[in-house]
Amino acid sequence: MAKNWYPVIDYEKCSGCLTCFNFCPHDVYEVRGDGEPLVANPSNCVELCRGCQKICPNEAISYRGDLATE
Ligand code: SF4
Ligand code: SF4
Repeated sequence: MAKNWYPVIDYEKCSGCLTCFNFCPHDVYEVRGDGEPLVANPSNCVELCRGCQKICPNEAISYRGDLATE
């Protein structure tokens, strides 16, 4: 899986809805003690997937390694 592509959460925008956690089939996310999502297993993320970014209702997810934004 990807080494240099993984989601980064903007906690200023994140509402803690956990849509990303519930959606991702690759166990990239875990839930923190405070109920917010944590990118716990970034190496599980599939390069160029963007699945969680598309469904995040608050546009809080970007990607490390995304040449479109870096
Ligand atoms: S889907 Fe977006 S707003 Fe919801 S928990 Fe994930 S990052 Fe936060
Ligand atoms: S981009 Fe895809 S594989 Fe990576 S965390 Fe989001 S849903 Fe999971």
